[in-house]
Amino acid sequence: MVEKRIAMFRQQFDTIGIDAALIISDVNRNYLTGFTGDESFAIITKDKAFFITDSRYTEQAKNEVKNFEIIEYKAPSVYDYIKKIVIDNGIKRIGFEEDRINFLQYMKFKEFLEGIELVKLDGAVEKLRIIKDEDEIEYISKAAQIADEAFLHILDFIKPNMKEKDVALELEFFMRQKGASKSSFDSIVASGKRSSLPHGVASDKVIEKGDFLTLDFGCLYEGYCSDMTRTIVIGKADDRQKEIYNIVLEANEAALKAIRPNMACCEIDKIARDIITNKGYGDRFGHGLGHGVGREIHESPRVSVLSKDVLEVGMVITDEPGIYIPEYGGVRIEDLILVTEDGYKVLSKSPKELIEL
Ligand code: ZN
Ligand code: ZN
Repeated sequence: MVEKRIAMFRQQFDTIGIDAALIISDVNRNYLTGFTGDESFAIITKDKAFFITDSRYTEQAKNEVKNFEIIEYKAPSVYDYIKKIVIDNGIKRIGFEEDRINFLQYMKFKEFLEGIELVKLDGAVEKLRIIKDEDEIEYISKAAQIADEAFLHILDFIKPNMKEKDVALELEFFMRQKGASKSSFDSIVASGKRSSLPHGVASDKVIEKGDFLTLDFGCLYEGYCSDMTRTIVIGKADDRQKEIYNIVLEANEAALKAIRPNMACCEIDKIARDIITNKGYGDRFGHGLGHGVGREIHESPRVSVLSKDVLEVGMVITDEPGIYIPEYGGVRIEDLILVTEDGYKVLSKSPKELIEL
């Protein structure tokens, strides 16, 4: 699997104009090497591959990283080791993840690699990651399944007068018990007026009767994320709550049914947005409809008005319309979806009819 990814990565070298690439971000390096640790460096040339790590990781790297020459570096400077490889291999133009390295690293590379051209990779690895292979789909599906189980569990667990933080903690505890390594992001547990905060992470607020409660969460399984949102009502929903919920649900379902290969992501966004706008809540839906999910919780493609991305088989995206009314509350419903040859497959299977607890 890793060999295939590296071959596809190398195919882009001529277009980018590089004879090697230095990969330092955990997500991209792990994707290309199979290494599950962090703080290491991969240099991939047109015909060789080097993996530079320190003594904490050497043994792990030897087990996990195949077809790379494993080099253990010693303090103080990894830059000397990188420089040596670059010089020994006659590398003149080396690709960098310009959006992943920090300013200090950039200054160091400029200093140590004087005379070598540093070239932007411009998302070359991220572009490969956009299409998921069978293993990746299996891991994401499993992460989604654990989140579904957690949702059912949490419905039983939530009681009025409980703090949002207690709910978030239980979600994480449950998902870890089911095999997740951790939450895929800080769980959003936003109740009452706080549910109007699209990214209201769990607080000390007590959940009360009559509240909307938005739960947006997921877990990490074998390095892959899941992401889902459900909004429920604590007690009986009133007419306004039902109205808003049903508009969001209609938008979610309409967008979902339009998902298929070759569909423009901005079109999917528009389908959901038009429904919300026509009901008078267009200005209460401020974010894009969705995003890609994989090793990172937010990755390509973007599903938004401005997106130039087009759906392809093997992409995993979210469909998450919402309506947020300040000082009142909000609703979001989010599904995790795989784009398939004949349309789509919903990976998050939790019920979507309004739940009144
Ligand atoms: Zn989410
Ligand atoms: Zn999301």
